[in-house]
Amino acid sequence: MSQSRLASCIPLPLDNKVLSSVVEKAKDWALMHGVGMRDKAHFSKDTIQIAPFVLLPSPFPRTEFTKAVDLQPVLNELMHKVSHDDEFLEKTLQNALEVDDFTAKLYNIWIKVREEGITQSLSLGLFRSDYLMQQPDSNRIKQVEFNTVAASFGAITSYLPTMFRYILRQLGHGELIKNMPENRALSGLCSGIIEAYDMFGVPSAVVLFVVEEVSYNICDQRFHEFEISEKRPDIMIYRKTLKEIYEEAELNDKKQLIIEGRPAAVVYYRSGYEPAQYPSQKEWDARLRVERSSAIKCPSIHYQLAGTKKVQQALAAPGALERFVAEGELRSRVRDIFTGLYSLDFDDSGERAVEMAIADAERFVLKPQREGGGNNLYGADVKEALLRMRHSRERAAYILMERILPPLISGYVVRPNAAVPPSLCDLVSELGIFGVIIGSKEKIYSNRQVGHMLRTKLADANEGGVAAGLGALDSPYLL
Ligand code: ADP
Ligand code: MG
Ligand code: MG
Repeated sequence: MSQSRLASCIPLPLDNKVLSSVVEKAKDWALMHGVGMRDKAHFSKDTIQIAPFVLLPSPFPRTEFTKAVDLQPVLNELMHKVSHDDEFLEKTLQNALEVDDFTAKLYNIWIKVREEGITQSLSLGLFRSDYLMQQPDSNRIKQVEFNTVAASFGAITSYLPTMFRYILRQLGHGELIKNMPENRALSGLCSGIIEAYDMFGVPSAVVLFVVEEVSYNICDQRFHEFEISEKRPDIMIYRKTLKEIYEEAELNDKKQLIIEGRPAAVVYYRSGYEPAQYPSQKEWDARLRVERSSAIKCPSIHYQLAGTKKVQQALAAPGALERFVAEGELRSRVRDIFTGLYSLDFDDSGERAVEMAIADAERFVLKPQREGGGNNLYGADVKEALLRMRHSRERAAYILMERILPPLISGYVVRPNAAVPPSLCDLVSELGIFGVIIGSKEKIYSNRQVGHMLRTKLADANEGGVAAGLGALDSPYLL
């Protein structure tokens, strides 16, 4: 099937001379405004380089954008309820836990803190729901996944509408900027952290960012710190790795997590979502200590578990949404964004899914319970993996998802150290909508949509993570 194409915001290609000149300007704008990341090949804390971005904002249908924005509070609440439904989580994750050590370790922490008695009933969610347009279905959005932990690029992408306005003006198309929605993700996400901080209510308390050993995506993280510091000069932010937390943080008799003599009010994880971030038992011990503490966790461990692919698949199964979304009209709006999701458990429907995917592997994506990009299997690899796992319990660690076929977009990707001018490419975009939620099992105190991000990749690449080096930052141009 030939892929349809969305019209670009201005006629392309651009003249080479114009293109080279505007790319130079755009790169400088990006560098000088922190649209950057640290260089993985030549790491130095003294330099940042531009994060890959597209030169022009990519087209996105306005109705679908609005749909995703409007749905975010509904999805926030759905995930909040799922995370507090012990029975549903256990039943859903059961088979995967037997074969997926990482998810099992997270789950065991949840069991342990529940058994001990939960010290902090509030959770903070800074969520991101991701979508691709489904081209054979009138470009309607379909949910790729729902991120509950370390959802990134809210900060940097908040600056992109301004960058694109500058670029469009340089190209003589200043009138088009009216079609670019403002993006207040950064202030929205930070408002969630500040609100949780105030609910904790201890004046000497700090906010703790849990970070990687090396933060390549430093601009995105630091912008949160700068924003919070600007809005609330009284709030100190500490950055610590899980290992440092193991070594430096302790629980006092009130179960406060004490770091450098001060209690942590909010713990915001920008690390801790993949196995490599727990190289030893120390990191796991640190995680458990944080979860035991009175700090408000973003995410709490049950929010993180609710964000697994397995839960996403279970919610698409018949009858599941009914448990969490009472109202019929809302429920059908949620169901409408789901694409085909199949369990690979050892039962009749699991067997059917395995055979269906082996017979027509190109139609599917095979996903383990992992975050951060680069973990999924596509096409021939789906078939090979399922043939290998057909009779092994290992397959329960995965879910099967229908492959979404997005429409093509023409555009230029600007990358660090790449030839100028870049060539015109076929691209596809993935939209992310950010949401903030704060609540306990009994009550939701805040729940809102706060902004968006768009990232765009080469049409023939399977995945498009920006931090993983494949995607480019973007911002929607609404059609
Ligand atoms: P992760 O948590 O690692 O980001 P995702 O489910 O978002 O996992 O998958 C990573 C990437 O793979 C997505 O950003 C998207 O580019 C691609 N992808 C995932 N699911 C699908 C799908 N069903 N159809 C097409 N592409 C997909
Ligand atoms: Mg994810
Ligand atoms: Mg993703």
